[in-house]
Amino acid sequence: MAITSDDIIVWLRGCAAAIAAHKDELTRLDADIGDADHGANMDRGFQAVAGKLAGMAGQDIAAILKAVAMTLISSVGGASGPLYGTLFLQMAGATTGKVDLNPAGWEAALRAGVDGVAKRGKARRGEKTMLDSLLPAVEALSAALASGAAFGEALWRCERAAHQGMLDTIPLVATKGRASYLGERSAGHQDPGATSAHLLVQAAAEAWAPGRERAS
Ligand code: ADP
Ligand code: MG
Repeated sequence: MAITSDDIIVWLRGCAAAIAAHKDELTRLDADIGDADHGANMDRGFQAVAGKLAGMAGQDIAAILKAVAMTLISSVGGASGPLYGTLFLQMAGATTGKVDLNPAGWEAALRAGVDGVAKRGKARRGEKTMLDSLLPAVEALSAALASGAAFGEALWRCERAAHQGMLDTIPLVATKGRASYLGERSAGHQDPGATSAHLLVQAAAEAWAPGRERAS
């Protein structure tokens, strides 16, 4: 399968729909260990993105991803705005000049984006952030493609890894971001950013390999 600009737009529409559908859940999670704005932040950003998608048809993939980055940076706010902005900006950088992406191209783009988030946020795995779903997701995608899995299968293994990574944040003590102010009291709660990151990864599997039974 080759991912075209139109496919990227379908994915982004799915992201916006998923964030809107889970807005209250993201806010509730952020109420537990933050300031209860993650749902509103993300929904504001992705509704702004959704509003621009119609006008993006026909643009190349890098231009679309860059426009998404700029829109998120200017509209999401909080810690997550610049971090998700960086994710999309680095993905844009990795797709420059490409008319479409093969599975390895998507993997490289996602990896560049996630590495960018880690650099920008100065965070690693295990610190109870969005990276705890994003890093396992990229690793699972790479492992699946390396083992010869079809792209659709690889996308769902990527989604499952993000989902598990999200759940694995529950016992962690936050050492980055607002939740780190709580110290030990941040344990026992699922990280909101890891939850929104899982939704974006899940939206890719649903956009490009629909019809699978979801495990949850
Ligand atoms: P704020 O914390 O400013 O209110 P949000 O509520 O929108 O911003 O986003 C919080 C999420 O941002 C956290 O759940 C976490 O996943 C993510 N986050 C915070 N700091 C970092 C960081 N340094 N690296 C990666 N992700 C981070
Ligand atoms: Mg918050």
